[in-house]
Amino acid sequence: MVKPNRTMNILYLASEASPLIKVGGLGDVAGSLPKALKNLSSSQTSGYEIDIRLAIPFHTLINQKFGNLQLVSSFFVHHQQNDIPARVFQTVIEGVTVYLIEGGSILTDKNVYSSNPEYDAKKYIFFSIAALEFVRNIDWKIDILHANDWHTALSVYDLKLRKDTDPFFKDTKSAFSMHNMPYMGTGSEGIFQQFGLPKCPCTILPEWARNIPLPMGMYAADYLLTVSPNYAKEILTPDYGCGLQDFLITREDSLAGILNGLDQSKWDPKTDQTIHFPFSQTKLDERVKNKLALQTEFGLEKDEKIPLFIMITRMDQQKGVDIAIKSLRMIGDQPWQAILLGTGDPVIESACRSLEVEMPEKVRSIIRFDVNLSKRLYAGGDIILIPSRYEPCGLTQMIAMRFGCVPLARATGGLKDTIFDTTNIKNKNGFLFEEPLPEIMSQAMLRSIDQFSQSERWKKIQLNGMDTDFSWEKSALEYTKIYKKLTEEKNEN
Ligand code: ADP
Repeated sequence: MVKPNRTMNILYLASEASPLIKVGGLGDVAGSLPKALKNLSSSQTSGYEIDIRLAIPFHTLINQKFGNLQLVSSFFVHHQQNDIPARVFQTVIEGVTVYLIEGGSILTDKNVYSSNPEYDAKKYIFFSIAALEFVRNIDWKIDILHANDWHTALSVYDLKLRKDTDPFFKDTKSAFSMHNMPYMGTGSEGIFQQFGLPKCPCTILPEWARNIPLPMGMYAADYLLTVSPNYAKEILTPDYGCGLQDFLITREDSLAGILNGLDQSKWDPKTDQTIHFPFSQTKLDERVKNKLALQTEFGLEKDEKIPLFIMITRMDQQKGVDIAIKSLRMIGDQPWQAILLGTGDPVIESACRSLEVEMPEKVRSIIRFDVNLSKRLYAGGDIILIPSRYEPCGLTQMIAMRFGCVPLARATGGLKDTIFDTTNIKNKNGFLFEEPLPEIMSQAMLRSIDQFSQSERWKKIQLNGMDTDFSWEKSALEYTKIYKKLTEEKNEN
């Protein structure tokens, strides 16, 4: 065992983190990555002991659940009208120190994200600045500030400004992760100036981006990260770069994509209490009982030979539910069944309901958020449809593979990094299609129906997926390489 020869202090900022509060994929990442980094041994981290601590806003929804909190700091955040008092509470979750920052509009928020951009801007800009004030206040010198998405982007920007004037932050480096580029924090213009932050002076960003948090954070960060290697390449192109591709090209040397991991203890078909018939690679034959149970539950014909498509998704334009619906119609004469689970855009929800009305013997549309049902679907569905228009990483394909459900997805972002089409010689674990068009997707669906009918071949595809290592440890090791590079750059300067 290598004895750590120095500690690396990392402050990890996010708007949400599981299990305290989770709305989307970022909550999973912020809940899992710090823990995985903390659990690495110093022999895995080239001799560094990683002291990573998480800070999130003390959303009012968190209040009730976590009682064991200690007040560790009180201070003021500068604001042009009146300085705003802030308080920070500490707790420890699965070995990771978590700071909950309270004050300003965090005190009255009803949700993690509201539909009012100005309200969210005030809340998250306060949080971003308070996080830096806080580490200064408790005299915890951080080597790395790691922020996520637009909500915490201005902490990175503020850090860059402070480095010139405040010796406390002189040696702090920053990493900034972009989980969903189109969400930039538009609506914050004017509000960050009230907190004393100037508009971005740089000419390297397009004019329109110089007072929007996400690009400001991108400009200020020492290292830029996305959540899959392929998405990191895609955002250099006009199709995915959201107008920032030319800027991103200038940052290619300090831009990387690291795949998100999966909490493999949480998603485990062997031990999951919510699925009717547990199974594993060695007991894969048990799996079919879950499919038959689903067919019974949803009043579909009980026949293991009919391929069962599933979808588990936010009903958002990004996810291509409309493409799936049209594709299902195109192959309506084939034997298949489909169960669609999701909520979101009422127009998409209603299109799913209409498909069920149109094909009552084949389709069920369940318009709700239901984690237990999602697990039964992962455990019993044969093929999960993921026709995303863009997908920074994607979690559903990884969960599905772990549960022996084969992904059929658009070849984009993290889907392309994790799914290997059956036309490959090795590692085949799913089906990919290129253009997000029903006529293209339906062809892939026909291929999947054909392969499904060949049971030995199908089992191999399932097992390849189930055997894939999606552990957070693997991702955490990639992050340590970037942190180490940044820390060592700092020591050289
Ligand atoms: P995104 O974060 O863009 O929504 P991901 O694929 O990264 O997409 O993660 C989606 C997560 O949300 C998965 O864990 C999936 O199982 C879950 N999920 C999505 N919709 C539902 C739903 N209606 N009910 C239960 N879980 C859902």
